[in-house]
Amino acid sequence: DLPPIDGDFYNLDLKLTEKQREIQLKVRNFMEDEIRPLVNEYWKKDQFPFEVIEKFKDLNIVGVPYEGYGCPNLPFLMEGIIAQEIARVDVSISTFFGVHSGLAMGSIYLCGSEEQKQEWLPQMQKMEKIGAFGLTEPNVGSGVAGGLETTCKFDGENWVLNGQKKWIGNATFADVTIIWARDLDSNQVKGFLVRKENPGFKTEKIKDKMALRIVQNAIITLTDCKIPESDRLQNANSFKDTANVLRMTRAGVAWQAVGCARGAYESALKYTKKREQFGRPIASFQLIQNHLVEMLSNLTAMQTLVFRLSEMQDQDLLTDEHASLAKVYCSMRMRDVVSRAREVLGGNGILLEYDVARFVADAEAIYSYEGTKEINSLIVGRAITGYSAFVS
Ligand code: FAD
Repeated sequence: DLPPIDGDFYNLDLKLTEKQREIQLKVRNFMEDEIRPLVNEYWKKDQFPFEVIEKFKDLNIVGVPYEGYGCPNLPFLMEGIIAQEIARVDVSISTFFGVHSGLAMGSIYLCGSEEQKQEWLPQMQKMEKIGAFGLTEPNVGSGVAGGLETTCKFDGENWVLNGQKKWIGNATFADVTIIWARDLDSNQVKGFLVRKENPGFKTEKIKDKMALRIVQNAIITLTDCKIPESDRLQNANSFKDTANVLRMTRAGVAWQAVGCARGAYESALKYTKKREQFGRPIASFQLIQNHLVEMLSNLTAMQTLVFRLSEMQDQDLLTDEHASLAKVYCSMRMRDVVSRAREVLGGNGILLEYDVARFVADAEAIYSYEGTKEINSLIVGRAITGYSAFVS
């Protein structure tokens, strides 16, 4: 008998409680049975499988770390484990989930008034309402902290929003999109709950992406979009509050990178045991084993790092630089793992049906979103040297 194909080499699963392990296996089985059969088809079609939302509802894994509002209130570690399990099968689905449960619900959880939380979080937890998060703009990506061009102004009755957002995941169909805009009077960044039906709010799907094709990313145009004060996030008073949301979710993106690498490694290992050349499985060749061991060592280092990262988050020790270091390290290692996986599959490594090609493409999106390698490196660099190398 050949040894099992499992990307948890250091048995980190043994550190989970029985209940946590149960949730992990529930998500794993769900992803294998319900999602894996769908993803290549939808990836090819550049469409989102809406039936997935219905299927996700029964899992009760939305808003895992939040307290109240029907949320499970489990450790952040569990949120990471879930992100890994989802991304291990498909990174698009894990991005859809992360945007909804992390960025959108997280903004409301951290920056909303009690009333706003009561209105949105229970419905979002049950996935009766879906959320999106609009920070990036056509002209402003890495420089969002000081440079948002989307503006808001209170006209005595409503807030009036004008501008554009780019890359906003789920926004083509989300019931609510959190829009971050610069107040023309105070020059501070404020957050708004913008409802799908709000006049002046338009979305256009970004077509022909070469990665995360299942995720529906939008360009949003806001034209004199009027929002009542009751839909302004009451506790978002400056970009610092936006940054708090990003700090909380960036750890989850590092876990996604781990899931992406794990999915590619496990597919590659399986393939090399089956594929024969020169009359022997290619897994028996030393050079192929070298690739597999490099992949596994990267993966194991990533896993142990994010495990500790989440422990720190649960102990309230997490800083921006901790989350940024994990995002940088894991996304670099992920890129190495997926490219080696693609290599050991030979020509089949570029065919969608063998899964690895999808991981290779999707890894490129993880690499850039929630802060590029450069930006997250500068956050760590500033913390360890005391010098800010950002231009502004
Ligand atoms: P730019 O900021 O233009 O950067 C270009 C290059 O310049 C990068 O290599 C960058 O690292 C480098 N650079 C920039 N500044 C510096 C500097 N000071 N020093 C050194 N190098 C620098 N955003 C949302 O708000 N909501 C979403 O749901 C969302 N989903 C996304 C999904 C996908 C698939 C993608 C690709 C992006 C998504 N984003 C989303 C946006 C994402 O966060 C940005 O793409 C990212 O922050 C980088 O911004 P940019 O693409 O404009 O690149």
